[in-house]
Amino acid sequence: MPAPLIYIDSSPSLPREADVVVIGGGVVGVFTAYYLARRGVSVALLEKGRVAAEQSSRNWGWCRQQNRDARELPMATRSLDLWEKVAQETGEDTGFRRCGLLYLSQDENELAGWAKWRDFARTVGVTTHVLSAQEATERGKATGRKWKGGVFSPTDGTADPSKAVPVAARGIMAAGGTVHQNCAARGLELSAGRVSGVVTEAGTIRTTTVVMAGGAWASSFCNQLGIRFPQAAVRQSILAVAPGAEGLPDALHTARVSLTRRSNGGYALAISGRARVDPTPQQLRFSREFVPMFARRWRSLAPGAFEGWRQGHESLMKWAVDDVTPMERNRILDPKPDMRQIRLTYQRACELLPEFQRVAISHAWAGYVDSTPDGVPAIGEVEGIPGFLLAAGFSGHGFGIGPGAGHMIADIITGSEPIVDPRPYRPERLKTAAWGKVAEF
Ligand SMILES: Cc1cc2nc3c(=O)[nH]c(=O)nc-3n(C[C@H](O)[C@H](O)[C@H](O)COP(=O)(O)OP(=O)(O)OC[C@H]3O[C@@H](n4cnc5c(N)ncnc54)[C@H](O)[C@@H]3O)c2cc1C
Repeated sequence: MPAPLIYIDSSPSLPREADVVVIGGGVVGVFTAYYLARRGVSVALLEKGRVAAEQSSRNWGWCRQQNRDARELPMATRSLDLWEKVAQETGEDTGFRRCGLLYLSQDENELAGWAKWRDFARTVGVTTHVLSAQEATERGKATGRKWKGGVFSPTDGTADPSKAVPVAARGIMAAGGTVHQNCAARGLELSAGRVSGVVTEAGTIRTTTVVMAGGAWASSFCNQLGIRFPQAAVRQSILAVAPGAEGLPDALHTARVSLTRRSNGGYALAISGRARVDPTPQQLRFSREFVPMFARRWRSLAPGAFEGWRQGHESLMKWAVDDVTPMERNRILDPKPDMRQIRLTYQRACELLPEFQRVAISHAWAGYVDSTPDGVPAIGEVEGIPGFLLAAGFSGHGFGIGPGAGHMIADIITGSEPIVDPRPYRPERLKTAAWGKVAEF
């Protein structure tokens, strides 16, 4: 069964014009439109399938500062505050709670890395507790094991991927924006080199500003405009178990398996970082740029199948805007989970916490995690096409920082003081090689 996700209604009709059109109804596009609408900007959000049906409902739900790359940490910190406010602003529950994230380890090198990150985090005012063996064993007592150490980040938390982004999308409409599902953006209209409209499958919207927040589809869309955006996606598999396992931590990472409590009382279980690399034409195109990334993560990666090729999101083909495009042929990117890994994940979870033996697997799914070569998202106006902003490549961290990213993009568009420094995210940095600069975590 695919990842659980609530359904929301779309706005009744597509506007003929809007100040801003946001393409992509994942966490990034939704929060961009949310913060624009709340400022009174007329904004239309286009989603080719269902809001949050791709990565933004398929993730663990971690909203973390812990172990964040220095370039992303300020956005992670601000996002946690924003997550807290969304529930008040919308009057709906996103499942967000600052439950703290617990990491346990038996590996001295891993522990040393976490301690090093703690030292850095202190310099920017972020608190995390490095745990002694005794403290880690106490916090991890549900496992019934002795641990060499760990870390606990008390101000981090989780939100519920099955409802958080749809809730924010309803917030867009409540603030005066519009949301259009089953409505793919096929391309842009340009006048004198700058954005003048978006061509959708249901008609054209006149606008001067477009945000491309299409997740794993962003590079192929950019390719239509002659923009080279190096992006690659890997397939991660994850499962959920039914409610019934009690007395366990809300969010726990170990090298063998990680778990996250969900709003319904069930748990999501996964093996951190483990993924399949499905070859696609786009992967081959950008393979050189991704050597450092794959070299750093190779222990967790395994060769995949032609699953990715079939999905069409990483095609290099050019399409016509007056005909059906790959985005309409594949409304929801729903790759097959790696069932061997699903079984292994559940087995490891039961070994670590026998309480899981009492509950059955309720859902198993996979998601394509889109990444940039340096593991930091590309956010900002694209050189050469005034009015066209890119916001993609969230590299496995986008759910937690979605609110901060959306707020920052809204700041850029409205000319407000950005909530965080946007410079580390400039898409232009990817024109020069990312060798040696890959994000640590
Ligand atoms: C298994 C897994 C675990 C993860 N765990 C975490 C975690 O714990 N914490 C965390 O912070 N992150 C996590 N992530 C990463 C996180 O989910 C992503 O970084 C984030 O959701 C990306 O959001 P997005 O809006 O960029 O893309 P998406 O959520 O993929 O949304 C993009 C949307 O754009 C739409 N679209 C594309 N092209 C078009 C078009 N032309 N017209 C209209 N619509 C279009 C797509 O249909 C899609 O709905 C995880 C990801 C996975 C798969």
